[in-house]
Amino acid sequence: MKTVTILGATGSVGTSTLDLIERAPENFRVVALTANCDVARLADAARRTQAELAVVADESCLADLTAALAGTDTRAAAGAQAVCEAAALGADWTMAAIVGGAGLKPVMAALEQGRTVALANKESLVSAGDVMMSAAAAHGATLLPVDSEHNAIFQCLEDRNRDAVRRVILTASGGPFRDRSLDDMRAITPEQAVAHPNWSMGAKISVDSATMMNKGLELIEARHLFGLAPDQLDAIVHRQSVIHSLVEYADGSLLAQLGPADMRVPIAHTLAWPRRMATPMAPLDLAAIGRLDFEAADPVRFPALALARAAMEAGGARPAILNAANEIAVAAFLARRIGFLEIAAIVADTLDTYDPGAPDSLDAVLDVDAGARRIAGERVQARDRSVPS
Ligand code: NDP
Repeated sequence: MKTVTILGATGSVGTSTLDLIERAPENFRVVALTANCDVARLADAARRTQAELAVVADESCLADLTAALAGTDTRAAAGAQAVCEAAALGADWTMAAIVGGAGLKPVMAALEQGRTVALANKESLVSAGDVMMSAAAAHGATLLPVDSEHNAIFQCLEDRNRDAVRRVILTASGGPFRDRSLDDMRAITPEQAVAHPNWSMGAKISVDSATMMNKGLELIEARHLFGLAPDQLDAIVHRQSVIHSLVEYADGSLLAQLGPADMRVPIAHTLAWPRRMATPMAPLDLAAIGRLDFEAADPVRFPALALARAAMEAGGARPAILNAANEIAVAAFLARRIGFLEIAAIVADTLDTYDPGAPDSLDAVLDVDAGARRIAGERVQARDRSVPS
């Protein structure tokens, strides 16, 4: 019986995680579930799994949560600190699936318990890669990658041949606009951007996928998770999302992991690791898939990828600035305040304007993050199309 906590239990990854856990109730006991304010979904999941604790980050949602949990043994709590306390309860396995920088402190709290953390919240590792990896090592925590690309790489990396890894190649679906002209991309709406062709995901990562910032964030994530040099990391567009990433060795061999485009596969891999567990998906029908295509990403239509690569190469505070500015710009795009192409423009502008020193602690990362959010917010304000001029 493994004890589990799910941070971000009401989201896309959180829901997929619950699905797997609820299919094997004899193997898992739920310690804590957290959300921001989706009380209905959180309380429902807490009732089904008999969770010990349910937490909403938004304190104004506590009264509703308490009412929704009436008659159960689940305790209710609220606030950002309470989310960190839930993360610190020391479950054997913690899913980190809060979206964005809000996940950073809870992930650190979970790592400090020295257990296993399954990481979906890539933004925390992009912002605080060195600090997080040091914390994981110092506390003896196991950090398992949930992102399908990193989970694929993790499965293809041979421990005994780590020094013979030549390159790691992350695959990208190319998102919903891979065939659109730059001109067409100016008028893209939030509804179009969140309609991903291959994956069903939360709004923020869907927009990141459409700008290809997602792949850029993933390059930085891979650098930290696997201790690779920037020139060992490549990304390639692979429309079918069948191969989730590849590892190339010195002898020219490429190892790839293939699977259905369903997050329950990588989540199950981390949930059962180092063993395997069954998932409900139909096996891949390779004959029906027929062909696998690969193409280079277009740097003109998808400038976010180059911004992320440059931030990765420069290191220091650059990845944290990139991530924070992107979060602000994506939220502004989803709120119809700026256009789709302005997301990368605001990130570039923030990177050009702001150049603090390399953060060497969690607090220093949070300072850089706050500074970048402030500048990106000003840039959004200056471009805001929802405000009549
Ligand atoms: P969703 O938007 O679907 O879910 C986000 C979760 O985070 C929800 O539980 C939400 O609660 C919670 N949350 C939001 N804001 C806060 C906050 N301020 N404090 C605490 N909790 C908060 O996101 P996804 O599941 O799509 O993605 C989660 C993470 O996983 C992201 O970092 C993403 O990049 C990564 N990821 C996602 C994949 C996917 O397939 N979806 C694939 C690979 C990685 P509430 O519902 O109450 O708002």
